[in-house]
Amino acid sequence: MSHSESKELKQADHLMREGKINEALQIILELEKRDDFTHQELLSIKLFKANLLYKLGDLLGAINYAEDIFQEFQKQGNLLSSFDTLIIQAYAHGIMGNVSQSEDIIKQAEDLFKIVKETFTIDLRERESFLVRIKANIHYFKGEIQPSLELNKKAYELAKDTSNKELISASLSNIADKYKLMKEYDKAIMYAKEVVKVNYKPILRFPLSILIETYIKKGDIKEAKVYLDKLHEIKEEYDTKRTSILYRYNNALLLKSSLRARNRIKSEDIFKEIAMDNTLPIEQRYDAIINLCDLFLIELRITNDPEILDEIQPFIQELLYLAEHHHLYVILAETYLLQAKFSLLTSDIKKAKRFITQAQKISERFGYKELKERITNEQSKLLKQSDIWEKLKEMGAPMDERIKLAHLNEHIEEIIEKRAMLPAFITEEKVAIHKEKKICLVCRGEVLRFSYICECGAIYCDNCARALTNLENVCWVCDNPIDYLKPVKPYTEEEEINVDNKGKK
Ligand SMILES: [Zn+2]
Ligand SMILES: [Zn+2]
Repeated sequence: MSHSESKELKQADHLMREGKINEALQIILELEKRDDFTHQELLSIKLFKANLLYKLGDLLGAINYAEDIFQEFQKQGNLLSSFDTLIIQAYAHGIMGNVSQSEDIIKQAEDLFKIVKETFTIDLRERESFLVRIKANIHYFKGEIQPSLELNKKAYELAKDTSNKELISASLSNIADKYKLMKEYDKAIMYAKEVVKVNYKPILRFPLSILIETYIKKGDIKEAKVYLDKLHEIKEEYDTKRTSILYRYNNALLLKSSLRARNRIKSEDIFKEIAMDNTLPIEQRYDAIINLCDLFLIELRITNDPEILDEIQPFIQELLYLAEHHHLYVILAETYLLQAKFSLLTSDIKKAKRFITQAQKISERFGYKELKERITNEQSKLLKQSDIWEKLKEMGAPMDERIKLAHLNEHIEEIIEKRAMLPAFITEEKVAIHKEKKICLVCRGEVLRFSYICECGAIYCDNCARALTNLENVCWVCDNPIDYLKPVKPYTEEEEINVDNKGKK
């Protein structure tokens, strides 16, 4: 390696470790323009660039670069650099939601790491810490919080005595996040504060938003405000879109917690803006929509004005659209269940039943056993309560009473928690494939060999068509019978028994 190139790489490395990622990238971009490097030198420049790209959030770019040079390093038998390119790929795939791909690559990296450990005597703690943290992420993406917590702690142990602030901050921040999910708020706060102390700026927004959220949950608005101000400072310094959205989102959370109506209105405006901005990451839009539902519910309880329910609809529709197009079927089923409950508020029992059927079929189709059980419970509860709902409507009972009966608050809370367990990012690729498929109107799954196509054009998969014939026997779109040989059973109180006894036959 030429003297000047190694000097410049060292300088870039120093900047990177200080968190000055963009400055480091500038040096690399300058180096790339030159043509006096050997093949080997160019490879190390590319490896460095792949490293910077994933840190800057350009995950696809990082993967492409890393894949490319991995082949070269393999040919040369360069174990260490091969390993380095693998973990970049595994990390980026995980964050992009390609969990199984991330898992495959990390296994390959682990095997390689064993050989590296036997071959080299250099300090491998930083590499191992990154490796272990990626494994922790994979558990997290699968919803396995406890193993993810344990591995993040191990990643921290490996990193803590090195000079690598990024590894220290990232593992500590992950630990805080897992404690937040486990509702151990004091521990979440303790670890998040440790990250703030390290002061590695590129990822400081994460512990700050953990602190804001956790203090709000604990009802300590004053402390939450302190960290919101810190997040504001970071936003001013690093005016990236990601930081500024996170700031707006947390600000809205804080305003939402206020007892004053005008603060809640401000909060609503911010959430609406985030919810409908399709240039933003999906997860941020989800969170905003779910928080909006929560706000509308508060408003509904106070004003008792059913028109608010119409205002919720476009956002619910957007949520359904996003969930379906990103294949998040748990969220899809949960949202249909939410739709069912909103229909109950206006005592539209027929709609409520259809939405519940849909939630049930989705969870059945995509194999969510627990969810299906819960929905079946909701269904029998609804059937038992349909008289009460009708009566509430006749009496003009206040919304507050209806919301309580539907357990709507608890349900929204549950969706918020489920959402936190999902991968942070979903690829566009899956969406493109989706468009070619025929989708069943009820369970939203692909219609394979057998299907029922109504004359109106509505498509039902075999399973759902059968289920509907047994329930109401009409097409949900045009109301024509599905099976002309069977009687049509419009949803009324009488057919409750039919659904309730279905399993016992
Ligand atoms: Zn179906
Ligand atoms: Zn039809």
